[in-house]
Amino acid sequence: MSDENSFATLPLSKEMLENLKNIDYLKMTPIQAKSLPYVLEGRDILAQAKTGSGKTAAFGIGLLTKLDIKKFDIQSLILCPTRELAEQVALELRKLAKFKHNIKITTLCGGVAFKPQLNSLRHKAHIAVGTPGRIIAHLDKGSLKLDNIETLVLDEADRMLDMGFMEDIQKILSYMPKKYQTLLFSATFPDDIITLSKTLQENAISIKTMDIEKTNSVKEHFFQVNSNDKFQTLVDIFTTYKPKNSIVFCNTKIQAQELATSLRDKNIDALAIHGDLEQYERNDVLIQFKNESCPILIATDVAARGLDIKELSMVVNYDFPFTKETYTHRIGRTARAGKEGIATSLIDENDKDIDMVLKYSDIKILKNDRNFSLQPKNITLVIEGGKKDKLRAGDILGSLTKDGGIPSDMIGKIDILAKQSYVALHRDFIEKTFRYLKNGKIKGKKFSVWVLK
Ligand code: AMP
Repeated sequence: MSDENSFATLPLSKEMLENLKNIDYLKMTPIQAKSLPYVLEGRDILAQAKTGSGKTAAFGIGLLTKLDIKKFDIQSLILCPTRELAEQVALELRKLAKFKHNIKITTLCGGVAFKPQLNSLRHKAHIAVGTPGRIIAHLDKGSLKLDNIETLVLDEADRMLDMGFMEDIQKILSYMPKKYQTLLFSATFPDDIITLSKTLQENAISIKTMDIEKTNSVKEHFFQVNSNDKFQTLVDIFTTYKPKNSIVFCNTKIQAQELATSLRDKNIDALAIHGDLEQYERNDVLIQFKNESCPILIATDVAARGLDIKELSMVVNYDFPFTKETYTHRIGRTARAGKEGIATSLIDENDKDIDMVLKYSDIKILKNDRNFSLQPKNITLVIEGGKKDKLRAGDILGSLTKDGGIPSDMIGKIDILAKQSYVALHRDFIEKTFRYLKNGKIKGKKFSVWVLK
């Protein structure tokens, strides 16, 4: 790519440029190249971007550049539709914020304890990322003040409106100061987004990138099936394409749960993620999917929002989505970063009002193998100790390789949470590791361990 996509063309500090290099951001993604110049000028923008396009850095670099670190007030607020997206955004911002010490980013989401959030706000933060409901709860309580906001970001704004957050957003706006920059990101542009932009933004620059990204890399297949044959067709799809990892979309929570169970009964490893799961259950599922301990995630649209899965081989529409926008969202999750991806969709006699022109593939291209099974490469082990116990990934890795005799290439991703750590291990080494950790120590301390399944 030419130099015009280099971050160095932007008015950024030396430290920021250095950090971008350190985290391997060598050139701007299309959304960054199109929006960052305006974001840095202080303009309002209305940008079409999906998760995976680099949109977080497109607004993150802007708001971090503007930040007055000496001033311990919330200066940027990022509203997200789901906890998962908020956590993802916070993670990415922390990576980008490494160019300076002491930038405090707090996440304010529902479904988790209130008190730690109060403490975090009391100790002052510069940037807040959260979901509308919990942010309102803090505003009502007086624990969050928005008087010094310089930048407001609405991330996945279309989904926030889909989820009925319009009123909440309006309420949050009533706490905002007179002047601030608004960055609105949305994968689709239905009328209500345009209306929201008009009420909220001033001379917003409109930015589109998605069409270019989409067309070059997703192979789409539509299969016409009888509803009774749907399940077997799905199995045949896995048999044929053998995806390394795949998200299967269902339209209801019950369907998602049932489908995961039916697949597991057929020796195809799958886990469901949907709104009825407790936070810890969602963590367990997501961590296993991301660390290659489960190849298939069965998801509803809401639960899948904001998941940042870097290399997704396939998306399956087990239930066909109700709108074209949702279809675009779903299939956009595969084929990221220029990689090829496959999107397969099942359409049965109940799918009547599809507002898309579909070119069906012949179902005969699918293979059938009674003995097909799909098992993950890894299995996840949980250690009852985390950041609070000052455990770091290096400590676990060191203990397992040096004292436990586990080859380092058999150890996958290690995720350290507040009170627990998740270690992905090649399935052939799970027993040995479990036995070692049951008796052995990490940093001189014994921890309980168990295998996730
Ligand atoms: P996002 O769309 O913000 O969820 O970002 C998707 C992924 O792309 C994240 O894992 C980022 O860390 C990564 N990313 C964002 N910008 C760049 C860049 N310019 N170069 C390389 N990776 C990037």
